[in-house]
Amino acid sequence: MMSRDDALNLDREDGLAGLRDAFRLREGLIYLDGNSLGPMQHSVARRVEQCLHTEWGEDLIASWNKAGWYPMPQTVGAKIAPLIGAGAQDVAVTDSTSVNLFKVLAAALQMRPGRRVIVSERSNFPTDLYIAEGIAAFADKGHELRLIDSTQELDAAIGEDVAVVMLTHVNYRTGEAHDMAAVTKAAHDAGAVMIWDLAHSAGAMPVDLQAADADFAIGCGYKYLNGGPGAPAFIYVAPRLHNEVSQPLSGWFGHKAPFAMEPSFEAAKTIHRFLTGTPPVLSLVALDAALDIWNSVSLGAVREKSVRLCELFIELVEERCEGLGLTLASPRDASRRGSQVCFAHADAYPVMQALIARDVIGDFRAPDILRFGFAPLYVRFVDIYDAVEHLRDVLQSGEWEQERFKVKSAVT
Ligand SMILES: *Cc1c(COP(=O)(O)O)cnc(C)c1O
Repeated sequence: MMSRDDALNLDREDGLAGLRDAFRLREGLIYLDGNSLGPMQHSVARRVEQCLHTEWGEDLIASWNKAGWYPMPQTVGAKIAPLIGAGAQDVAVTDSTSVNLFKVLAAALQMRPGRRVIVSERSNFPTDLYIAEGIAAFADKGHELRLIDSTQELDAAIGEDVAVVMLTHVNYRTGEAHDMAAVTKAAHDAGAVMIWDLAHSAGAMPVDLQAADADFAIGCGYKYLNGGPGAPAFIYVAPRLHNEVSQPLSGWFGHKAPFAMEPSFEAAKTIHRFLTGTPPVLSLVALDAALDIWNSVSLGAVREKSVRLCELFIELVEERCEGLGLTLASPRDASRRGSQVCFAHADAYPVMQALIARDVIGDFRAPDILRFGFAPLYVRFVDIYDAVEHLRDVLQSGEWEQERFKVKSAVT
């Protein structure tokens, strides 16, 4: 059996351990929710402060040029590019993931005018499905959403009538990961366009959009990229499509010369055509600073630690919480899993609230999932050890049955 000292030893041998000091995480907190909101780095606070005081506070409008605000959607996109296997010119940071999905889905449907089906998964993150529903209704051309219930149904679902396959690489609830290259190939073989949502993979594991030949991708800035609450999202368009596609939110930032102030729209022939309006500079500055940590990190090392953290968690939970009503809801095989582990429990909501009261922060996902995210930049092996001890105590003692843990908040 592993002891707490063994876990501390794993941390001592961990080449990524020093990165944790970059983050503001108070003593005693076990933060296993970076897949929902990444923590703040000290450098981010300093950078935003500088933006507030000097760039906005003193230099005002001059900062669009002087402080490099104007090109930021692209310069920050270039920092995300190596994390997702994209070229520096092929990623922009703008809007929210939901809005970016709307743009790329519209572009993809226009590429396949004779086809009417969008394939996705019923277990996809709801906003992705809602956006697809909305765009199908708005296009008003009889588009339909074909939802599969398991990966095994994917091949049969991708037929000659499919315009777009739209999937999230790593499932938000179970952590199950798709084989990006194989699915993209299947979509292309059937003549469909492939869109990947990287919300739970960017910064969590290596992603190679170019090797997979993906057409479009989108993803979040506030999860594993630690850009802060509501951080702007990213959008990737394969370079072979920059001149070929258009998107309907044709705001002035997507114009080939925004400050020419022309009365009619003429799209930029670059990734800029996927921008819409003025970016949220304060949020972009935060994300920009948050991304610098990746300069000193290899994604291979991140993935290796992620797999070890996840495996240790599964092993300890199954060993120490046996008979306490938990069932693994994530793939057991690491190659089919992102950087999170979920267990189903009939009383998952109050159990998670009781853990949170003990400073073990994971989250609950309806209807019965306890979700734990393991961001390798700051999660320690000893955090895994301690989290499992708390989980066992909460379940064994019945602590979670207290009424206060059953009260539901708006955000779970
Ligand atoms: C978190 C998440 C989103 C969030 O979209 P927002 O527009 O930022 O609210 C979208 N898709 C997936 C798969 C997610 O996990």
